[in-house]
Amino acid sequence: MPMFVDHSPPGQCIFCRLIAGEIPAALVHEDEHTIAFMDIGQVTPGHVLVATRRHAATLLETTPEEAAAVMRTVHGVAQAVQAAFDPPGLTLLQANGALGGQTVAHFHMHVVPRHAQDGISFTWPRQEPPPAVLADYAARLRAAL
Ligand code: 5GP
Ligand code: ZN
Repeated sequence: MPMFVDHSPPGQCIFCRLIAGEIPAALVHEDEHTIAFMDIGQVTPGHVLVATRRHAATLLETTPEEAAAVMRTVHGVAQAVQAAFDPPGLTLLQANGALGGQTVAHFHMHVVPRHAQDGISFTWPRQEPPPAVLADYAARLRAAL
């Protein structure tokens, strides 16, 4: 997991500069709330980033409208990736905070075409707590919603 996180002030982060046209990018789509462009670090061919146009560091700083708009753009980009690259699989990844795996602190989602032996792997330390623990977790979340 990369350790560097870009904590530039809003408007000066790498994606804000890209959105402002100050640094080049291979654009895929732009609309009122979102921008889609090729990730400079292509994990697999066709790897796209979909970001909010406004600077929001993480998902928690986006408005519901921005979050929905990003997913709408991701949906369209995913259809385009499927049509143009025809991968047998597709993974969406969205990281928040350094410990969440985020390296650029401007909200974005990865659309990653997947192939056999593409070298991408996640460890997923699965546990099965008792039902009472799950019920407690759910109650805490219902109270917080
Ligand atoms: P994160 O690690 O925050 O989920 O993803 C950040 C992504 O931004 C990385 O995959 C990285 O390759 C990409 N990236 C970083 N700087 C640039 C840039 O200047 N241009 C583009 N197109 N992508 C970038
Ligand atoms: Zn930004």
